[in-house]
Amino acid sequence: MNDKIIDGKLVSANIREKIKEKTKAIKDKYSKVPGLAAVLVGEDPASQIYVRNKRKSCEDVGIYSEEHKLPESTSQDELLELISKLNNDEKINGILVQLPLPSHIDDSKILNSVSPDKDVDGFHPINAGYLFEGKPKFIPCTPHGIIKMLEFYNIDIEGKNAVVLGRSNIVGKPAAILLLQKNATVTICHSRTKDLEDVLKKADIIVAAIGRAHFVKKEMVKEGAVVIDVGINRLDTGKLAGDVDFDAVKEISSFITPVPGGVGPMTITMLLWNTLTSLEKSIS
Ligand code: NDP
Repeated sequence: MNDKIIDGKLVSANIREKIKEKTKAIKDKYSKVPGLAAVLVGEDPASQIYVRNKRKSCEDVGIYSEEHKLPESTSQDELLELISKLNNDEKINGILVQLPLPSHIDDSKILNSVSPDKDVDGFHPINAGYLFEGKPKFIPCTPHGIIKMLEFYNIDIEGKNAVVLGRSNIVGKPAAILLLQKNATVTICHSRTKDLEDVLKKADIIVAAIGRAHFVKKEMVKEGAVVIDVGINRLDTGKLAGDVDFDAVKEISSFITPVPGGVGPMTITMLLWNTLTSLEKSIS
């Protein structure tokens, strides 16, 4: 079978070009630009890099961005107060609270305090509910990016057996719901799944999001399957690896995403997309 590498950077560049054009058109017509506020509490190095990348990506497409870097010692009330200000700030259309938050802060309390109209991560229960209903306002960025990549490569979803590995609220569950809405037959696997290899072997589409380097081996994958690797794992060598044994699995898959350069770039792109969408909704 001819291997096809899904190029997340290419798909991303294509969508970012559209975001740039739409942003410019809105600016010309309404003198407004989309605004994104990123809130970062503590010094987590991965989060710092992530937020820096987001700022750069915003600049590239003409989206206004601001960062709120707070010390680890910030109290929950102080954080709630900042979010309340951002909820009422007219130049901000999207609020992103970078996870993980320090352990003395209740993640759900904070995420639920973000206005559902500015919840560009799509994590608020109201937005999760809309997604569940099939009438999403903001789709969580990583699963949204996965669907956009499948569409870009004209990969059929309808009627396919899709297996999603992982059931987190930010990746696994919304990815499964989106695939279901595209008429796939969806199975969700997790750490208690029995006979995981047998389930995976029947999959036409695999979405791996468990955070275990090289977990999905060639023997677990059906010839011709489409393999989407969400995992980001840091190896002892310092290199990044996905949840899929890429070199071996690419021999039998029909399409596969690399790590890095697959799902990762799409996540930030869909965050930009949601921020633009938020502004569009506010002026329509
Ligand atoms: P979580 O840790 O929240 O969830 C992991 C899921 O994997 C859980 O449902 C867990 O099952 C399941 N799991 C763990 N080990 C196994 C196993 N051995 N067999 C079967 N299932 C298992 O992770 P996230 O969803 O937040 O992230 C998953 C991965 O994706 C991470 O590597 C993360 O870094 C990456 N990621 C990448 C993004 C990108 O932009 N590319 C964005 C977001 C995440 P159980 O529920 O039973 O515990």
